[in-house]
Amino acid sequence: MARYRIAVIGIGKIARDQHLPVIAKNPAFELVGVVSQHDASVPGVPTFPTQAELFAAMPDLDAVANCVPPTARHALVHEALLAGKHVLIEKPPAATISEFDDMIAHADKAGRVLFAAWHSQFNEAVTRTRDILGTEGVKSIRIDWRENVRKWHPGQDWVWAPGGFGVCDPGINALSILTKIMPVPVFVDKARLDVPSNRQTPVSAEISFRTADTNGPAISAGFDWLEESGEIWTLSIETATGRKLKLEAGGTRLIEDGTITLEQPASEYEAIYEQFDVLLRAGRSDTHGTPLRLVADAFLVAERHSVAPFDW
Ligand code: NAP
Repeated sequence: MARYRIAVIGIGKIARDQHLPVIAKNPAFELVGVVSQHDASVPGVPTFPTQAELFAAMPDLDAVANCVPPTARHALVHEALLAGKHVLIEKPPAATISEFDDMIAHADKAGRVLFAAWHSQFNEAVTRTRDILGTEGVKSIRIDWRENVRKWHPGQDWVWAPGGFGVCDPGINALSILTKIMPVPVFVDKARLDVPSNRQTPVSAEISFRTADTNGPAISAGFDWLEESGEIWTLSIETATGRKLKLEAGGTRLIEDGTITLEQPASEYEAIYEQFDVLLRAGRSDTHGTPLRLVADAFLVAERHSVAPFDW
């Protein structure tokens, strides 16, 4: 079986934590190079300072995995598609909706695969919850997504810069689960964003959602980036039949009426690369963008409050 020759673009936290080790384990892919502005070294493969130099040196490269911050993504994806490469992109897929739309149109025109991966969607417990809600309906959902920014984004000033999403960078993972499990579309109703006085993006957010049905479920989300007790990545759900569900640990554990019914160690990135292989073989893109639209909508309608400055 031919292996896809792939390069990773941007050697930061997620590239090192997930993409590089997961590619190494997947027989469908062969890592052949990386692109790094800070000349990161990855054993066994060459490092290129720019994507253009990578493409020039390796004309038979099949695909890239783009792991840069969202504001840097569009130009690189554009360049990769122009060069005829297939592209996997980290979440959030772009800094703006129109950039993301352009990537989708460009991939389509170029006949290349674009895979906008939402890692939190790749959990069995999430799929099982979607199936339950499809049968039982939804009465309410409360999302609590709280973590410590100093642990998960150490020193990453881009998260606080315009286009960096702030706490909605992890929060969008919860919304990727919400949009997967909900049987009907959801819309942002109201939002409150708390922005540190010395930064441009929110450190905490409270968002309420509605559906097209005026008697539809009550749905809300609270995101917080100053939680020091550990990660709280939970969706608390009541079905329309009165059952209580909890999706915990980022969507890896399902609790039904107090009993754990499904729990698996996180293998989101393994599943992402298995799906990329499927998409490449089928010549099909996967560019679901609803979580990005919900965050953009929250930023459009939000009340903003200035709060205490944030320093690392
Ligand atoms: P990061 O540690 O800051 O790494 C991003 C890398 O992108 C940098 O190290 C840099 O690598 C490269 N880069 C290119 N242009 C850049 C620019 N203008 N500003 C900063 N870096 C630039 O960030 P990350 O946590 O890996 O996040 C990258 C993406 O993955 C984000 O979209 C994030 O939402 C997503 N993600 C992160 C996590 C997590 O746990 N942190 C989890 C899932 C998804 P070079 O110097 O090598 O070019």
